Amino acid sequence: MRIVCVGGGPAGLYFAILAKRSNARHDVTVVERNPAGVTQGWGVVFWDDLLDDLYRNDPVSARWIEKNATRWDTQEVHLRSESAPHLGGPGFALGRERLLDILARRARGLGVDIRYQYDVADASAFTDAELIVACDGANSRLRQRHANHFQTQVEEGRNKFIWLGTNQVFDAFTFAFEETPAGWIWFHGYRFDRDTSTCVIECQQETWEALGFDTLGPGETLRRLEAIFQGQLKGHALFHQPRGLGKAPWLHFQRITNERWYHDNVVLMGDAAHTTHFSIGSGTKLAIQDAISLAQKLRAHDHLPTALDAYEEERRAALLAIQLAAHSSAQWFENVPSYIDPDATRFAYALLNRRGSSVWSYLLLMASQRPALRGALRTLHSSRQWIRAQRRDREAARMM
Ligand SMILES: Cc1cc2nc3c(=O)[nH]c(=O)nc-3n(C[C@H](O)[C@H](O)[C@H](O)COP(=O)(O)OP(=O)(O)OC[C@H]3O[C@@H](n4cnc5c(N)ncnc54)[C@H](O)[C@@H]3O)c2cc1C
Repeated sequence: MRIVCVGGGPAGLYFAILAKRSNARHDVTVVERNPAGVTQGWGVVFWDDLLDDLYRNDPVSARWIEKNATRWDTQEVHLRSESAPHLGGPGFALGRERLLDILARRARGLGVDIRYQYDVADASAFTDAELIVACDGANSRLRQRHANHFQTQVEEGRNKFIWLGTNQVFDAFTFAFEETPAGWIWFHGYRFDRDTSTCVIECQQETWEALGFDTLGPGETLRRLEAIFQGQLKGHALFHQPRGLGKAPWLHFQRITNERWYHDNVVLMGDAAHTTHFSIGSGTKLAIQDAISLAQKLRAHDHLPTALDAYEEERRAALLAIQLAAHSSAQWFENVPSYIDPDATRFAYALLNRRGSSVWSYLLLMASQRPALRGALRTLHSSRQWIRAQRRDREAARMM
């Protein structure tokens, strides 16, 4: 089958890898508008469930991803730079640049043709393709060409956010909330390599205007944010894009859904099909799970529309719960000032509870405030992760 993936993000590259792995005779091309090694955004977080999926589907790239990822084993909530209640739970982080490099190397090794600096206007450039995967991100041009067919809905979030990097090393996944005369502003930050952290800063639109961000230039924006968060950044600078690749814009989150996921032989995948608010850190995982699902359906069904129907049905169902959680989380962050509590632990619980938590999460949160119990929980989590990693390794060895 001749397959073209438009967009060399996690969705497109991972799908290309799986398509080639399922049938080496497939002719797979990925076209990407950026030059090789260039991407927007810094590090992304993920959890063991993604590693499980990666190992099950391509142990080679899974090993590289795990080896390059940074592990964090606690979360902290800083309110006005003062107190830092702990939220439990470990996770991983990896730079987008590194992730894409790993996937591109693996794809090329399997025989995928990756063409960079190739900006696709519409699917008509690929008349010889039997399948065109529109994995060109949230602002997908391929999707926009057939917006009526896909019945795309775009809902804009009320807050402003900006995705920055910093060389302040946040070893814990850190939420920091600062009060300014113009209102509350906050970030979440985490280290994703030896000396770089992601720092996603967010505030309400009114606060953003009152702080003057609507008139400040890119350099002044960073300086003002560094001053607001000086307690957390400890003198370290903020940066716009990796390797000075341009300015990060202030954006509103766009919640994208589609009534239909394919049109003839053009199928949506990843952010082109759906977005989930960045505060639950799941978009990359979902993009990769889309890729896994489509590859499986193509193996199971020779008839393309049947495979695409099965893919759409499976992914739509799988997304329901996580989209709901993402929506609740986005709404929580749009109403941060109403949750601010003089008791930082109670505030941390409200933050933890934003996606709907159980009574156990409250007990765990209280336990995490005591260093000895926190240490015990950390050991428990590490042992569980170790056992899970051993199981993955065994499964991967069987597959190789
Ligand atoms: C602030 C922020 C923080 C986030 N943090 C996390 C996180 O911690 N964990 C997580 O899992 N997810 C996170 N995400 C979400 C995650 O980045 C996306 O969900 C994920 O990248 C989707 O992958 P994709 O391949 O569908 O799209 P993308 O990664 O957007 O890739 C699309 C690719 O298509 C290319 N392209 C676009 N148009 C064209 C064209 N016309 N021709 C050719 N190429 C084109 C683009 O250059 C891009 O490389 C975050 C998102 C944001 C905004």
